Amino acid sequence: MLKRCGRRLLLALAGALLACLLVLTADPPPPPVPAERGRRALRSLAGPSGAAPAPGLEAAAAPGVLVREVHSLSEYFSLLTRSRRDAGPPPGSVPRPADGHPRPPAEPLTPHDVFIAVKTTKKFHRARLDLLLETWISRHKEMTYIFTDGEDEALARRTGNVVNTNCSAAHSRQALSCKMAVEYDRFVESGRKWFCHVDDDNYVNVRALLKLLASYPHTQDIYLGKPSLDRPIQATERVSESKVRPVHFWFATGGAGFCISRGLALKMSPWASGGHFMSTAERIRLPDDCTIGYIVEALLGVPLIRSGLFHSHLENLQQVPTSELHEQVTLSYGMFENKRNAVHIKGPFSVEADPSRFRSIHCHLYPDTPWCPHTAIF
Ligand code: UDP
Ligand code: MN
Repeated sequence: MLKRCGRRLLLALAGALLACLLVLTADPPPPPVPAERGRRALRSLAGPSGAAPAPGLEAAAAPGVLVREVHSLSEYFSLLTRSRRDAGPPPGSVPRPADGHPRPPAEPLTPHDVFIAVKTTKKFHRARLDLLLETWISRHKEMTYIFTDGEDEALARRTGNVVNTNCSAAHSRQALSCKMAVEYDRFVESGRKWFCHVDDDNYVNVRALLKLLASYPHTQDIYLGKPSLDRPIQATERVSESKVRPVHFWFATGGAGFCISRGLALKMSPWASGGHFMSTAERIRLPDDCTIGYIVEALLGVPLIRSGLFHSHLENLQQVPTSELHEQVTLSYGMFENKRNAVHIKGPFSVEADPSRFRSIHCHLYPDTPWCPHTAIF
């Protein structure tokens, strides 16, 4: 009797242990998507003129997307995919295409083959754009187009490629989609092989960009960039007046920049050209970069090729090693709770003189630049 009880007790204990193990190892339910509201919470570092960060950025997030507030930088980073821990896909997900690093060249590419759209707004012309014009854009004026929302004679004198979108200067979902729609249309008109979009707090390393793009045929369906979430975004797609359905897809965050081949861009036309981009964005009520992902992944079935060479200020930029700066395609800078987030690079400019580190990065990549101190040791 006692023996039987002992065996039952043992069996019950083993069962309980197994149940515990199952609970511990089972996939947790997907947490609420931190999505773009987190991104907007990370205010960009004020430019050399010390301009204030953009107010009212929350308007760009989809209603109901943010379900939790992020309170510290480390918590914030832990929500993002751009740290090194995010090298692989989330457990149980469908395998993704290989990391977008340059492969053997697929076709020769010149700067004139690439259309780089820089999204900005009038209030950032001095605070952010001047720095880009002084650094990477100065070397690549023929491929870079500035998309803004207000006339600026000083800017027009510095580059001929300024497009006044006439979109609203607000940071609303509609205003941002309006700019993306104009960027897309201008790219299609340009006849170029590649469309790349960046924000005005991105440094573009054009040599690395050309090397990466040259390794893919522009006639094929290529969507390159870096997601800001560690799982596909869950959205609701409006399919008719009265019907909505859930949809999930990956998208490359606009804050790190992304590129699309001409072959793919032309296929996007029914949802992206003319006024269609705006109505497509309304269909899922998400910001412009998510809408691009929706068209490419959800509507066209083309998977995002994720690349670790694109960087936004949502990741810890200090982790980018100086020795690998040459290979990075985009870099950024930003602020979060008054903490600076920028690439760590020694000289030639002090952090006070060059808070974004873009001038130092530029001198590192182009040491022959006239204003770079020639005695600098990197
Ligand atoms: N932007 C804009 N209109 C605005 C505010 C910002 O077009 O009213 C642009 C800005 O120039 C930048 C991008 O949107 O290229 C992202 O803005 P920001 O870096 O301030 O915000 P983030 O989303 O990175 O936190
Ligand atoms: Mn930004």
